[in-house]
Amino acid sequence: MKNHLDGTPCLKGLQDIPENYNPCCEDFDDRTYVCIHDIRYEWWPERQGWFIPIHASAGSGGIAMGYCPHCGHKLVSQYSGGRYISLDKMKKDVKRAIESKKETDER
Ligand SMILES: [Zn+2]
Repeated sequence: MKNHLDGTPCLKGLQDIPENYNPCCEDFDDRTYVCIHDIRYEWWPERQGWFIPIHASAGSGGIAMGYCPHCGHKLVSQYSGGRYISLDKMKKDVKRAIESKKETDER
């Protein structure tokens, strides 16, 4: 895993998706693999919904999505809009940052 310039881990190539994930379209699927700085779509199990995460440098949390922005398909989500935080995600991000730092230190 690579790090951003500020030391936070880059999630490019890693997906945060639900079980039985079946993307509505390729454009949506593409955005589940990208870095948070490229507009990333994530499934947050704690909130049972799809979110566009906001980097910590911009206040963190995420914007809920009710529909696919590309094809208009209705997403399985508890929320259709608004900004939320996820304690699960924050814990996961800290864990990833620690793992990423270990990798960097071992290099
Ligand atoms: Zn779609």
